[in-house]
Amino acid sequence: MEAVFSAIEKICPSKRGADMKKYTSFKIGGPADLLAEPENTAQLRAVLEACKAVPHLVIGNGTNLLVGDGGYRGVIIRMGSRFSSIRAEGNRIYADAGASLGAVSRMAMEKGLCGMAPLSGIPATCGGAVIMNAGAYGGEMADVIESVRFVTPDGEEGESFDHGFSYRHSVYMGKDMIITDVVFKLWAGESDAIRREMEELSVKRREKQPLTLPSAGSAFKRPKDGFAAKMIDEAGLRGFSIGGAAVSEKHAGFVVNTGNATAKDVRRLLLAVQEKVRETHGVLLEPEIQFVGEFT
Ligand SMILES: Cc1cc2nc3c(=O)[nH]c(=O)nc-3n(C[C@H](O)[C@H](O)[C@H](O)COP(=O)(O)OP(=O)(O)OC[C@H]3O[C@@H](n4cnc5c(N)ncnc54)[C@H](O)[C@@H]3O)c2cc1C
Repeated sequence: MEAVFSAIEKICPSKRGADMKKYTSFKIGGPADLLAEPENTAQLRAVLEACKAVPHLVIGNGTNLLVGDGGYRGVIIRMGSRFSSIRAEGNRIYADAGASLGAVSRMAMEKGLCGMAPLSGIPATCGGAVIMNAGAYGGEMADVIESVRFVTPDGEEGESFDHGFSYRHSVYMGKDMIITDVVFKLWAGESDAIRREMEELSVKRREKQPLTLPSAGSAFKRPKDGFAAKMIDEAGLRGFSIGGAAVSEKHAGFVVNTGNATAKDVRRLLLAVQEKVRETHGVLLEPEIQFVGEFT
């Protein structure tokens, strides 16, 4: 892998042994062999070409990930702040995949464009939010995405208008398609009203969610019938902890890192919650958090 790593280091800003705690909202995870941060699509293409034969994974803000304590053997390609320009034209916003949803939402508000307010508090990149069809407060990416551009490790490039969105799912998930550009199609509104809506939803989020502790958002997907947080609460698990991982006291749907949680603690906690809720409600909760790398 050494030759691949040296080649990538010549293409874009890269870091050996990158501590994944610093690149995930959970603040958990061991080192990645190499973390590469391409600054444009040409660099991304070159990085993909170089790491074709070694394990690699594209991430955004790392807000839906649990990285194992053993870290990641291979290349993590981070599409973040280095790949994040945004511009508005008419009722569309053109964003690089690494731009944050927050930044797109602020631009939409300034331009008097509606549609982003429900999504504005999700701490995602545009690319990560498309992959997950992220959503909140009655809105989801499916409502506002017109098209995306993507590249693949085989050098294929394209534009897609058909996203196959459903609950926390898109057609791009699990495929080796890397989103590079996202086009939002919004509708005309009034900046002050949009600002008020964003502020109200931000207050709601802060009241309901444990935003002062590291987490990866909702730990489990919404089951077919009912709500994961309600079931976890009814199962008596609010505040339940293993090591440094705990079911949040504030919102039972969140698992939080209370200080020194390991990935192993989180995994054991998630399994314990699944087991208990299966006993009490007969429902097998499915994790929304994605697992990455080596778990011990
Ligand atoms: C405090 C908090 C609150 C949250 N609230 C919400 C919420 O209200 N609603 C909601 O839906 N989610 C929420 N989340 C979860 C999370 O923000 C979303 O799942 C988000 O879509 C993840 O985006 P990301 O950029 O962090 O992607 P990452 O977590 O880095 O990656 C997620 C997935 O996308 C892939 N990926 C990322 N970028 C690309 C790309 N450019 N091309 C191809 N694949 C890519 C990764 O490989 C991975 O499979 C919350 C998380 C936190 C920490």
